[in-house]
Amino acid sequence: MDLTGKTAVVTGGSRGIGRAICVELARCGANVVLCARSAEGAARETVELCEAARAKQECGCSALTEGESQGGQEQAFQTIAVPCNVADATDVKNLMETARKAFGSIDILVNNAGITRDGLLMRMKEEDFDAVIATNLKGTFLCMKEVSGVMMRQRYGRIVNISSVVGVHGNAGQMNYAASKAGVIGMTKSMAKELGSRGVTVNAVAPGFIDTDMTAALSGDAKGKMEEQIPLKRTGAPEDVAKAVAFLVSDEASYITGQVLGVDGGMGI
Ligand code: NAP
Repeated sequence: MDLTGKTAVVTGGSRGIGRAICVELARCGANVVLCARSAEGAARETVELCEAARAKQECGCSALTEGESQGGQEQAFQTIAVPCNVADATDVKNLMETARKAFGSIDILVNNAGITRDGLLMRMKEEDFDAVIATNLKGTFLCMKEVSGVMMRQRYGRIVNISSVVGVHGNAGQMNYAASKAGVIGMTKSMAKELGSRGVTVNAVAPGFIDTDMTAALSGDAKGKMEEQIPLKRTGAPEDVAKAVAFLVSDEASYITGQVLGVDGGMGI
């Protein structure tokens, strides 16, 4: 995929699937603006990995610190990490403004930031329900709202929302998470209809079981049983999801919108 000259905003880019997406988009030549609640630590590591991926493609890339991003040197750099809680409208506005100031446009938005607060309904606390909806669902809404004007004006845009196999099929103990991820699919289809006439595609990716911090708590035994139920007999890697996202944001996918692409080894069949 060639994404040279495109600017991508990726939420939750510090770890796991989000990090793999950042690296893949950078490898394809895109400027990457990633966010997490902190832009230090893991987020800085992602910036460095993006640089390395781009360097391999001989595109050249440097990290841009927050201070430098205000200093007018922006065009020389291609990866930025911005602190942003996607559930906070002011943070999201700042994220998108930083991206626009640095690169002049936002062509690609990947809503990947997500959390779980699992528990059976009878034991689920109200704050656990609210926290998951705030990050996974409201965060996706806020980010799409903030970029849709930009994309409509430029009559071009690619939005990919990361849902889950759980949003399609449900899962005991994850009612809050399933609701948020099913909601993301509803939002995706609605926005595909709203923005289609302006050249903006909106799709969802529904990963199955992917090896990240989010799934690390599962015991080896439980993971083994899970793998048995997956037709491809293995869990997924973050890079499996990243490749699908790179396709959906590329010119090759220009006639695909409003779809939910399962990246789950067949788990959702
Ligand atoms: P992860 O390893 O836990 O990473 C989550 C990322 O989101 C981190 O970068 C985290 O950074 C960021 N984040 C969390 N809350 C945030 C907030 N309020 N604002 C901004 N950033 C926030 O999770 P993952 O497994 O890579 O999952 C990525 C996405 O894929 C999620 O939407 C998840 O629901 C979905 N998914 C995962 C799987 C799986 O099996 N792993 C399956 C289906 C779907 P900070 O904590 O530093 O903010």
